[in-house]
Amino acid sequence: NAKELGEYNVVIYEQKLRDEYLQEVNIENLLRRAIERGEIYLNYQPQVHLKSGKIVGAEALIRWNSKEIGMVYPNKFIPIAENTDMIIPIGKWVLEEACKNLSLWREKYNKDITIAVNISPVQFKKSDMYKTIKETLQKYALPGHCLEIEITEGVLIDNIYDIQKQLKSIRDLGVKIAMDDFGTGYSSLSYLRRFNFDKVKIDREFVQDYPEKEDGTLAEIIINLSHSLKLKVIAEGVETEEQLQFMSQNSCDEVQGYFYSPPVSKEEFEKMIEKGIFIN
Ligand code: C2E
Ligand code: MG
Ligand code: MG
Ligand code: MG
Repeated sequence: NAKELGEYNVVIYEQKLRDEYLQEVNIENLLRRAIERGEIYLNYQPQVHLKSGKIVGAEALIRWNSKEIGMVYPNKFIPIAENTDMIIPIGKWVLEEACKNLSLWREKYNKDITIAVNISPVQFKKSDMYKTIKETLQKYALPGHCLEIEITEGVLIDNIYDIQKQLKSIRDLGVKIAMDDFGTGYSSLSYLRRFNFDKVKIDREFVQDYPEKEDGTLAEIIINLSHSLKLKVIAEGVETEEQLQFMSQNSCDEVQGYFYSPPVSKEEFEKMIEKGIFIN
């Protein structure tokens, strides 16, 4: 009867919650040791200047290949790392690893390569990102302008004034600041004006639906808006020639996506630099 069925559903629901919880706890415990066990590494996805078709840099993207549970993608473990503050040491490791390689490449190939690193809102709230960035740049003798940090709108929602201060001092180091996943959060327009960003990343949602589900209007609006605020624009998730053409016709500055390259290992990225497909 209905009552029994209701109870049955509750049991199933509770079981599901428990399974999810156990899975999270398991991932959390494995993640705790992932760095020291060498299971975490970075892949690099080229960012291409549209007018010249040349690579100007890359976004560093974290990867975790667990000995116990195999590949785990960031959308799965970054939220867990954020909830447990493990994102602080993980984020530090990411920044350090990216800067270490960037400095090697810049010296070896004598090119003005830039690397973009994703920074979680939790890192801003619970650690001194200005100090971390400053010390890491110093350690690897890097000029600020070759590092870009990507932040999402989420970072700006609470404690706006403190974040604003942190971002300003980070920017004074010469570091570039990009707004990631633009258009998917809240209050994007006022934030764009209030904070001094250098670059806007159009979320892949607005890129990928073109031309099947969307006529590109939103992407076009974001490009024009950014340009009128004197910001550079990069389109994420460009997969097809058609999408590339669209971005080109609408004067988008840069693109990133499977059309040019998926995120690749540091060795593969180094080969791309070697081939001389860089802008300078
Ligand atoms: P994101 O910063 O927006 O990164 C772009 C994501 O889109 C990456 O997923 C990338 O692999 C994927 N992508 C790039 N081009 C294409 C394409 O043409 N088509 C499709 N379908 N996807 C494409 P990934 O590497 O799984 O990362 C997911 C998210 O995890 C990132 O989104 C970022 O928010 C977060 N993340 C990654 N690495 C880090 C990190 O080191 N620290 C922090 N805090 N977050 C990170
Ligand atoms: Mg990003
Ligand atoms: Mg993004
Ligand atoms: Mg995204």
